[in-house]
Amino acid sequence: MGKRAYNFNAGPAALPLEVLQRAQEEFVDYKGIGMSIMEISHRSGEYEQVNDETQSLLKELMGIPDGYKVLFLQGGASTQFAMIPMNFLKAGQVASYVHTGSWAEKAIEEAKQFGETAIAASSEADKFTRIPALSDIKLAPNSAYLHITSNETIGGAQYPEYPDSGNVPLIGDMSSDILCRPVDVSKFAMIYAGAQKNLGPSGVTVVILREDMLSLVPKNIPTMLSYATHAKNNSLYNTPPAYSVYMVNLVLKWIKENGGAAAMEQRNREKTALIYQAIDNSGGFYRGVVAPEYRSLMNITFRMENEELEKKFVKESEQQGFVGLKGHRSVGGLRASTYNAVPYEACKALAEFMADFQKRNG
Ligand SMILES: *Cc1c(COP(=O)(O)O)cnc(C)c1O
Repeated sequence: MGKRAYNFNAGPAALPLEVLQRAQEEFVDYKGIGMSIMEISHRSGEYEQVNDETQSLLKELMGIPDGYKVLFLQGGASTQFAMIPMNFLKAGQVASYVHTGSWAEKAIEEAKQFGETAIAASSEADKFTRIPALSDIKLAPNSAYLHITSNETIGGAQYPEYPDSGNVPLIGDMSSDILCRPVDVSKFAMIYAGAQKNLGPSGVTVVILREDMLSLVPKNIPTMLSYATHAKNNSLYNTPPAYSVYMVNLVLKWIKENGGAAAMEQRNREKTALIYQAIDNSGGFYRGVVAPEYRSLMNITFRMENEELEKKFVKESEQQGFVGLKGHRSVGGLRASTYNAVPYEACKALAEFMADFQKRNG
C-alpha cells in the first residue's frame, strides 16, 4: 500500500485506516453472504442488524438516555436546517438561534423561510472569533426552540459548554464535533450531524431526537421531511443510505475499541495542543483566529502575515504530503481539521512542518 496522506480535510474528511481496511475486506462478500451490503434489501436481516446495531452503538458511546430515537436520514445537515422549523416551529412562536458563524447563519436563513426567527446571542461583532457567553443568551418569549452550532467548522470556534435553555428545547448542530468529547445528551431535545466530518462518509445524517418532540410534528408536511415518519419506521420508511450507515457502524466500533468519547477527547486535546503550540510559540508568525477559550478541537484556524505567505505555506505543505490546509474559500487563511480519525502522528508532522516553514520564512 502507498503512503497515506496527512489528511486535514474539513469534510468529507479522514476515516480511520482500520475502518477502511475492514470495509475493504467486507466489500465484495459481506459476512459470507456472497454479496456486498450494498447489493441487498434494506429489509433483509443483515441490513436490519446494521441499522439496529449502529443505533445501539451510538446510544452507548454518547450515553443517550432512554426516551430518545436515533434516526439515519438523507439530505445532509443542510436539510435539517429546513426540517427543524418545518417540524417544530408553530405560528405565533419564534425560532431562536445563537449566531456563531457560517453554519449558524445558514440554519437561521433557512428557518426564516418558515416563520419568525430571533437571534438569542451573536458573536458577529467579534467576527465569530468567540462563542457568546452563556449568560448573554437571551431567549425570546415563546421560543419554539433554541438552536446552537456546537462547532463552527469554517471559523473554528467551539462551545466549551452548552447553554441551559430551561423548558425550551435545545437543538444542536454537532456535524463537525459529534463524539469528539463526551456530551450530556439530556440537555438537548435534538442533536444532529452530517456524518462526513467525524462519523463516517457523506450520505447519512444522524439525528438524535427526544421522543416528546414527535408530538409537535404537524401532519401537513411532506412525508419524507417529517421526523415522525422516520421515527415510526426505524429509519426504514424508504431506502436508507445503507452503505453510509454501515460505514458509520464501523467508525463507531473503532471509537469504542479506542476507548470511547472520553478517550477521543484526550487524544484530540493532545493532537490539537501540538498545533496550537506551534501557533502560540511562533511569536506572531502564525496567528490563531479564535480566542483561546473557544478554540476548536476539530478545526484549527490560523492566519499568517499576508495571503502570499499563506499561499506559499499551502503549496509547500502539499509538496510534503499534507492535504486540506487551505482555509474555507469564504474566510481565507489556513485551517487544519483534526477530526477523531486524524492520527496524532499527522498532527505532530504538521507542527514540525510549521516550525520548519517559519524557520525558512520568518
Ligand atoms: C458541514 C456542516 C454542515 C452541512 O453539512 P451537509 O451535510 O453538507 O449539509 C452543517 N453544519 C455544520 C456545523 C457543518 O460542519
